[in-house]
Amino acid sequence: MPDKNAFHSQKVDEVLEALDSSPEGITPGEAEKRLADLGPEREAPARASALRRFLGHFHNLLIYVLLVSAAITAVLGHMIDTVVILAVVIINAAIGFIQEGKAEKAMNAIRNMLAPRAEVLRDDHRTSIDASELVPGDVVLLEAGDRVPADLRLLRSRSLSIQEAILTGESVATDKNTEPVAEDAALGDRSCMAFSGTMVVAGQGRGVVVAVREQTEIGRISHMLETVEPLTTPLLNQMTIFSRRLTAVILVIAGALFSYGYWVGGMGFGETFMVVVGLSVAAIPEGLPAILTITLAVGVQAMARRNAIVRRLPAMETVGSISVICSDKTGTLTRNEMMVTSVMTGENEFTVTGEGYDPVGDVLLDDNPVHAGDHPQLKHLALAGLLCNDAELNKHEDDWQISGDPMEGALLALACKLDLSSTTESRNWERTDGIPFDSAEQYMATLNHNHENEAFIFVKGAPERLLPMCRDQRKTDGGNESLDQDRWDQCMEAMAESGQRMLAIACKPVPPEHTVLERSDVEEGLVLLGLTGLIDPPRAEAIDAIAECYTAGIKVKMITGDHPGTAAAIARQIGMQNPDKVLTGKELEDMDDDALADVVLDCDVFARTSAEHKLRLVVALQGHGMSVAMTGDGVNDAPALKRADVGIAMGQRGSEAAKEASELVLADDNFASIVAGIREGRTVYDNIKKVLAWTLPTNGGEAFTIIVAIMLGMSLPITPVQILWINLVTAVTLGIALAFEPTEPGTMERQPRSRDEPLLTGDLVWLIILISSLFVAGVFSMYSYAIERGYSIELARTIALNTLVVMEIFNLFYIRTLYGTSLSWRGLRGTPFVWLTITVVVLAQFAITYAPFMQAIFGTEAVSLRDGAIIVAVGVALLFIIEIEKQLRLRLMRRRAR
Ligand code: ADP
Ligand code: MG
Repeated sequence: MPDKNAFHSQKVDEVLEALDSSPEGITPGEAEKRLADLGPEREAPARASALRRFLGHFHNLLIYVLLVSAAITAVLGHMIDTVVILAVVIINAAIGFIQEGKAEKAMNAIRNMLAPRAEVLRDDHRTSIDASELVPGDVVLLEAGDRVPADLRLLRSRSLSIQEAILTGESVATDKNTEPVAEDAALGDRSCMAFSGTMVVAGQGRGVVVAVREQTEIGRISHMLETVEPLTTPLLNQMTIFSRRLTAVILVIAGALFSYGYWVGGMGFGETFMVVVGLSVAAIPEGLPAILTITLAVGVQAMARRNAIVRRLPAMETVGSISVICSDKTGTLTRNEMMVTSVMTGENEFTVTGEGYDPVGDVLLDDNPVHAGDHPQLKHLALAGLLCNDAELNKHEDDWQISGDPMEGALLALACKLDLSSTTESRNWERTDGIPFDSAEQYMATLNHNHENEAFIFVKGAPERLLPMCRDQRKTDGGNESLDQDRWDQCMEAMAESGQRMLAIACKPVPPEHTVLERSDVEEGLVLLGLTGLIDPPRAEAIDAIAECYTAGIKVKMITGDHPGTAAAIARQIGMQNPDKVLTGKELEDMDDDALADVVLDCDVFARTSAEHKLRLVVALQGHGMSVAMTGDGVNDAPALKRADVGIAMGQRGSEAAKEASELVLADDNFASIVAGIREGRTVYDNIKKVLAWTLPTNGGEAFTIIVAIMLGMSLPITPVQILWINLVTAVTLGIALAFEPTEPGTMERQPRSRDEPLLTGDLVWLIILISSLFVAGVFSMYSYAIERGYSIELARTIALNTLVVMEIFNLFYIRTLYGTSLSWRGLRGTPFVWLTITVVVLAQFAITYAPFMQAIFGTEAVSLRDGAIIVAVGVALLFIIEIEKQLRLRLMRRRAR
């Protein structure tokens, strides 16, 4: 291989020769061979070793407190306590380690789903491949929004401009061309090169790959570009801080309790100390951070299964609170499978038959098939559509598929239906220059020369944009006449009414010397060839998803570059509530921010808008306190995506720039996936709440049992070592089951939660206090009952211990349904996780109650069947009490909402 550093100073031909490539790219076979020569991709540098990650789970204030307690109990000779505390710590770390490993694996798999793709020419055919499969010599196509996938020597460049900050630190984009530069030019001055990892901000271009992987400039300076995102979110951080504070409070209380018991209560040092240790262990929610992380990871996976891929974890929290979705129309609400169904020329209206991109079908005039030869104006229009076109139509088995823009694909199919076989025609006409489509300008133009030394500019674009640029229109016989604006206005209205997407096509003869295309050449004196109407059917799933949004209190806004009439027609077809009030980009521009804020809530369809308007819409909606989701695909959408509460990029159609600016990527570009994602987002948020609502009362109940006993100067109903045991068997089992809770029924019938609602709402805090108190009451009642019956203190404690665990189990059933009744078949049936953890806990309780060696260790005694039944009855009673409270509370809430 020649020295790659010299490519920027060589001519295009020399570079291609050196790389044994051509402007049409290499063959697929050659590519395969070169890929094999490159060998397998180097593995990403290994993460911290498993041992270190395992040890990492001990690096936590809560755990340190427990470890110190274990050490002191050991010194005091309470070996059983030491062992149990250590078991709590180790099991906790082990579960955290295993689950986190799983979560990380899942996150990596999801990240792989987002692996960048590259558009390449292989044997002159445009194909999309994984960027990691690029080889030197490949010809790569670039357009605005792409991240350059390898180091390229540019072969073509049309207003190509690339931002190279990650390489040069220079934030102003560099204009690129194909001219060689001096051999010693600095990286930032190598204007004929495009470097891997830099971002195309405007224009189009193509280049031949000169270096891949570690050989690229970026690969040489940094071997690890991707940083591992920590599995955390602001909310989880808050929770970590919360549990740290809680630990501090617990230590203070423990200290106070120790002083009280030792000096006031006259208990012995060792005994008091053990009580205090029991209290600390009971009260510290050591498993909570790990369980919350698992809950989040489960949610991320669930969303990925529904095609909504989370790029930034914090989005998991916001997704559930989305109150308005601003969606693109084309491709998200519609299928983006276009077909030309009508063509309007100066005098005729043609209809087109056929199916999808299949190039078979007829063009009909008054229901009779026509031949292109008899209608020169029709033929010219189809030719213009064929040449002013970057798409490609390919047959895959029996299926016709396009690469490139679907609208352009539809024009190719039209040209085929008129027998303008793409090969002969495009061979005759060479493209000399072009202006790519951009949604702000709404047109695309090419300059073409043929072998007879004729030159034409072909233009296609939105009719309202193109008509003012036209002076004349083409007649049936091939001559020109002046433009009949009224006719075209009528045509547009009729087409838009039926939801057709419109494209005007025009041309302009130019002198053959003309070889460079400027916007000024295009924007006047065109000859209009006609209008085409395309259908793009709505996605069936979008209709259901929109209805679901409305019941879930989520507003839907359609934001499109399309014609207002077309947008309204589609809005009606997909069942949007308010399809007829359409605001256009122009009207929007004439409004100031206050005026926009006034209309933004009532208006649901925004037409003929461009990316800049999206940002203003997001800001206006956020001004009303709404949590905004915004979709986008182009580079220009990036600011709006960043600003939105949840930016959503299209996985298939979207540019790298849009994906990188967004929180969520839709694998299937489908609106329905957004709604599915919101559903999962709400579920995760609920599950986080459920985990808290189960864990905190459990800790609270245990802690208060000890505190109350000491304060009242009575003997402990549950000994410290028994408290440790409860922690061991319940905290990491029952709690985790809640991380896997499926979506509650009615989740998408609730209004979205407000943007700044705290996690620990008043309701939740109340619930935690209520349940903690009921736990304490249950434990003491059963303990007193046993003492009154004259049972031994050991037996009374065993009964108290079992009562607490049974209540925790029933609380689990209660917590599973926060918003409905737990006493339903769904509620009682549970989930496999619920039953698995309950089985483990019940077996453990039987062991500690009846197994002689356990009795010896924990000081327990066998409980009679009758008392066992009473214990279960206490659990049932608890469930009924809190269930009644919930029903009253929900009813009150509903009344307040009304
Ligand atoms: P949308 O929101 O529907 O994707 P776009 O901004 O892509 O809107 O397109 C707006 C209008 O620009 C379309 O209605 C069409 O008339 C025109 N247009 C779209 N794609 C192209 C293209 N590739 N070439 C020329 N004109 C186009
Ligand atoms: Mg578009």
